[in-house]
Amino acid sequence: MNLVKSKVAETWAVNVEKWPGETPERILQLTDEVLSVFAECFGEDVLHQREVMLENACGNEYAPITYPKRYHANQAQSVDYRVVLNNTVNRPYQFYYQAAHEFSHVFMECYPGAKHLKWISESMCDAASFFVLAKLMKLSPENKKSYFNSYLASATSQSLPMFQGQAVSEFYKENKDCFWTCPHGLRSKGFRVRNGVIALKMLELIEKYPRGWACITKMRDTPLFELNLEPSDKAIELYFNTWMLNCSSQSHDSENLGHVEEQLAFVYALLQALLVLEQDHT
Ligand SMILES: [Zn+2]
Repeated sequence: MNLVKSKVAETWAVNVEKWPGETPERILQLTDEVLSVFAECFGEDVLHQREVMLENACGNEYAPITYPKRYHANQAQSVDYRVVLNNTVNRPYQFYYQAAHEFSHVFMECYPGAKHLKWISESMCDAASFFVLAKLMKLSPENKKSYFNSYLASATSQSLPMFQGQAVSEFYKENKDCFWTCPHGLRSKGFRVRNGVIALKMLELIEKYPRGWACITKMRDTPLFELNLEPSDKAIELYFNTWMLNCSSQSHDSENLGHVEEQLAFVYALLQALLVLEQDHT
């Protein structure tokens, strides 16, 4: 195993073998470009909180996927998270897209046992892919932009028509049963497109509150994820309230205050978009 440490986050390392046609330097550079986007929005500290190893899938391993050590089956692994991509050829946009999704899983530490609310975390990971890709696209040399653009366009284009002309809350209401019964959104193209509608709304929020996006680090420790909730708007509200409580329970020192406020604004705006809450007249 040939491990190379990230220059952006010292607790992250890349197994640079198994990427045919790519040099170790190039793989490390791509990894660090994605990590830099997270670092810019979340602050550097968040990046150093976990030991992570990134590698590329070999054979018929199911990937992209992230293995958290805290799962019993993964306890033999040396790092907190092992992230496996399936980027087999020279496609940087695909690398960015997959890495942003899987790295989000690391930051949220979130794999709910009960799957009813998993569509929220999965959509958040898809939104991260849209955001990172769009952001890195802007930095890339002119001659690469058309490739990046078409990748982002094809990733979003199927969800966009559903999103345009219809409020997210209406879309959610119409598809509620489907969200709650098949929340992963990856098993079929249709579900991916469905989660994409929510992800596009989240993308708007990431762009509006880039520091608030760090609210994904507070999705964990939300016990409702582990419960078998009955599908209802009340359950969604309960989950979001706990999530906001987690956001406000972090340090409010002057350096962090802006972050906390933006995180709360982000989560509340998302709740509003999904449910259109009645005004509180108290
Ligand atoms: Zn995922």
